[in-house]
Amino acid sequence: LQHFEGETHVSFKSPFPDVEIPNLSVYDFLFGRVDPADADRPALVDGASGAVTTYQTLVGQIDGVAGALAARGLAVGEVVALHSPNVPAFAAVFHGILRAGGVATTINALYTAEDIAKQLTDSHAKFLFTVSPLLPQAKDAAARVGIPTENVIVLDGADGHPSLTDLLTEGHPAPEVSFDPATQLAVLPYSSGTTGRPKGVMLTHRNLVANVCQINPRMGIGADDRLLAVLPFFHIYGMTVLLNAALYNRAALVTMPKFDLVEFLSIVSAQRCTYVFIAPPVAVALAKHPLVDDYDLSSVHSVFSGAAPLDQELGRAVANRLGCRVRQGYGMSEMSPVSHAIPFDRDDIALDSVGPTIANMECKLVDPATGQEVAYPAEGVSAPGELWCAGPNIMAGYLGNEAATAETLDADGFLHTGDIATVDAEGVVTIVDRMKELIKYKGYQVPPAELEALLLTHPQIADAAVIGVLDDEGEEVPKAFVVAQPGAEDLDEAAVIAFVAERVSPHKKVRRVEFIDLVPKSAAGKILRKDLRAGEARRS
Ligand code: ATP
Ligand code: MG
Repeated sequence: LQHFEGETHVSFKSPFPDVEIPNLSVYDFLFGRVDPADADRPALVDGASGAVTTYQTLVGQIDGVAGALAARGLAVGEVVALHSPNVPAFAAVFHGILRAGGVATTINALYTAEDIAKQLTDSHAKFLFTVSPLLPQAKDAAARVGIPTENVIVLDGADGHPSLTDLLTEGHPAPEVSFDPATQLAVLPYSSGTTGRPKGVMLTHRNLVANVCQINPRMGIGADDRLLAVLPFFHIYGMTVLLNAALYNRAALVTMPKFDLVEFLSIVSAQRCTYVFIAPPVAVALAKHPLVDDYDLSSVHSVFSGAAPLDQELGRAVANRLGCRVRQGYGMSEMSPVSHAIPFDRDDIALDSVGPTIANMECKLVDPATGQEVAYPAEGVSAPGELWCAGPNIMAGYLGNEAATAETLDADGFLHTGDIATVDAEGVVTIVDRMKELIKYKGYQVPPAELEALLLTHPQIADAAVIGVLDDEGEEVPKAFVVAQPGAEDLDEAAVIAFVAERVSPHKKVRRVEFIDLVPKSAAGKILRKDLRAGEARRS
């Protein structure tokens, strides 16, 4: 492993050799050449109905969408909003927008009219694609920002709006567009809004192409794989890892519009999915829910978790129960998103780490208190520090927010992730927690993620979340919100406090407990600790 040591400069490069990143648009990179042998392979499978879209059909639809948008006056660099859960047509529309030189801003399917309107305004979207079940809020939002009805396209059709079929039957050829993939924006996803208002993240064609090239050798996705696509395509994880990496490999994406355990298990088993992409809440269900035993999940060879911390025990429990590989990756919207992943062919890397840095990237850890770079360890594990990353997948900046961009991206090209991490002598990185979420108990740092993972090991705890709350002396103390397993009778506050106290150093003890029915989580699978904090604030 290479690392560079100067007086104040201690960074570490990916242990993997650089990969070549072709200077192509996303469309040319993914679909510029579809091998005739791949034309009839399934690109998308509707999980519920089993309907198949082949690669040949998909490319035809992409060209058709691009042609229809160009005929409606879409110019290179203009923004088109896509507001839809995971359905097969998402791929055609998403790549059709990019093919026409447009910039796709993907909108969370759970958003209210107000949230949608905010993103439409912020991104200056000219067109809005949606689906009929989401039309009421989409229509309301479009009206508020002045997008005319004929520019609100409803994929499955609705009175007074063009449908996807309408667009495709117009038969416009894809336009000839030319732009520089290195600088032309391709997408404007919004960060999850876990810690504040979601930010529009500007990612270029090169950013997206780079991230697929960087992760591809580590993921082991093959043309015969059938990937379960329940993680939303509108979020950067689903966009790059599913929509782009899977299609690049000519694998099949089996779509599911929203997570429901029974449906998830039936689709994985009926569609013989081989590679399942999840966030940690799904891992909790896979490890703990009794229903899992009723399904034949033997087709699954790999489960890949990202978006939030996966606990080692939990990961192992999933691997044992399903008899498959479990891997973890880390990233953020601002990195297109992946910077770290445990390679598919490495069984020896601890599951609570996020693996080595992917190719073409360089990182460092910086002590947030002193601004000093943390020394790279000659052996063992480094001290914790904020993870900074540089590479070809780093965003161009936040849309219309130079102050936030300047705070996050430094002059040397390092993105300050806001996450605290450690690195070991082999270059394997472990995420401790978000800087902003660390609880400070009498000056000691307590990572809530560590306590949540510990709580989940309790057989009577179905789910848990931890935040810092102020006690009577105004001291921040860890408080656990606990969801009890059905039938857990003797689980009370004292039992939870004692369980944690027996297993952690004194400053990390949970000092308050509240029982709740459901831990609030985002569509991408993150614990919404800010919602729990807001609940606390309302009561005090
Ligand atoms: P916002 O920036 O709007 O507050 P967000 O940071 O949740 O929201 P995303 O870009 O979707 O938006 O998520 C990136 C963050 O998710 C990372 O900064 C990190 O905190 C967390 N994350 C992602 N993967 C992992 C992982 N494997 N382990 C721990 N944390 C992770
Ligand atoms: Mg963030």
